[in-house]
Amino acid sequence: MAKLYFRYGAMGCGKTMQLLQVAFNYEERGHKVCVIKPATDTKNGTKLLTRIGPERETDFCFDKKTNLYDKIAKEYRGVQCVLVDEAQFLTKEQANQLMLVTIDFDIPVMCYGLRLNFRREDGGFDGATRLLQIAHDIEEIKTICECGRKATYNARFLDGNLVADGPDVLIDGTSDITYRAICPACYEKYLRRKK
Ligand SMILES: [Zn+2]
Repeated sequence: MAKLYFRYGAMGCGKTMQLLQVAFNYEERGHKVCVIKPATDTKNGTKLLTRIGPERETDFCFDKKTNLYDKIAKEYRGVQCVLVDEAQFLTKEQANQLMLVTIDFDIPVMCYGLRLNFRREDGGFDGATRLLQIAHDIEEIKTICECGRKATYNARFLDGNLVADGPDVLIDGTSDITYRAICPACYEKYLRRKK
């Protein structure tokens, strides 16, 4: 039975790199995959890019209205695996649709994304919240904070100062905003320094 997987981790932990590796492994064995991402993530056009080099074109980008079950049923029934980047931007309904893809078509679906938004709010990302509730298989992709501990938060910085409020989606490069994956202790340190 195919499974719905959720691989989550902070920014820069190599989620997209892992996704590309899985796609490569399937294709090396002559299997087709379907690689998708949300249209929310427009900074790289329709491509998936990684910090360390490899990139690839997606099969399609989806918006919040895309019915992923119908789309895959019509156009991608023959694939061996569906791979979803930036899966935190799925809607709850789309996460449910991907579960049905595993059940009705016996196609495994591997979702990669953030667990928390930068404000660390419950339900900050509908897709991540739903995947954490329903996925068959959930695993963390680990990365390291500047202090050497495990980084679990994505912190937004403006001119070196932590930003704890604001909209979820701000595309990089629109201002002096940067994101860093940090541990809870460092997050508190920056938060208290602000006050
Ligand atoms: Zn730290």
